[in-house]
Amino acid sequence: MFDLHVHAAPDVTDRRADDIDTALGYEAAGYTGCVLKAHYESTVGRAHLAGRDLRTRVFGGIALNRHTGGVNPAAVAAALLSGGRVVWMPTADAHTQETEGLPRLCDVAPRLPRHTYAIPPADPTAEAAVGQICALVAEADAVLATGHLSTDEVAWLLPVAKAAGVRRLLLTHPSYTVPAMPARQAAQLCADGAYAEITAYQLLHQPDATPAMLAAFAREVGLDRIVLSSDTGQPDSPAAPEAIELLVDALAGEGLDRARLRACASDIPESLVVPRIS
Ligand SMILES: [Zn+2]
Repeated sequence: MFDLHVHAAPDVTDRRADDIDTALGYEAAGYTGCVLKAHYESTVGRAHLAGRDLRTRVFGGIALNRHTGGVNPAAVAAALLSGGRVVWMPTADAHTQETEGLPRLCDVAPRLPRHTYAIPPADPTAEAAVGQICALVAEADAVLATGHLSTDEVAWLLPVAKAAGVRRLLLTHPSYTVPAMPARQAAQLCADGAYAEITAYQLLHQPDATPAMLAAFAREVGLDRIVLSSDTGQPDSPAAPEAIELLVDALAGEGLDRARLRACASDIPESLVVPRIS
């Protein structure tokens, strides 16, 4: 099994476990790998240390929020040249997050002005920076994840990324509150090589996410284009391996094939993230 989305301490909010204990949890559960994600810090160095003595491979990346000045190619270059494997477009400081009233850095640091980030078509001035970021991700053969961008921004980004040579594309939990992308649109965007993530966090915490809704979404996109991840780390969520089992069980309970669901939480995310041996 391979979890490409987990949050660990230290963070600007409470987390269930730190990097090392989180990684040890995967090791104990026999996971081949995981990706540490933080909204407000590169996890590249953290992942290296947490995974150094383990069989489980621990990867890191960078999310483009307030701490990077948003959509910042220099921050992406530094993270990728240090071995980062995933670049997330703005997440907690995306404009969608403000619109939906979801937590942002300025909520825990109220001295900060309430600035948000967007890409075209919402913010046409970001086009050149996004182009540079796509070129950097392509060069590193890393994963470009859509973060909490709106559906319109994701639809703009994917062809731009592909034209720049990005081969690993992930729609970050498209059926979550942000971006709340219709399944049909996710299916269209994934038909040409991208993957769509469904998280255990959605099952555990998203108000309108029932097992039936998540299963219908997975069915429409097609299980060969779905990644199941935990997105856990919240103090009130179970440990990641347990959360992923709950997600697999919930979707299998809706009639989806259990072996294929397990591939969505193992081979598919692993081949998406792990670099090819050259
Ligand atoms: Zn997350």
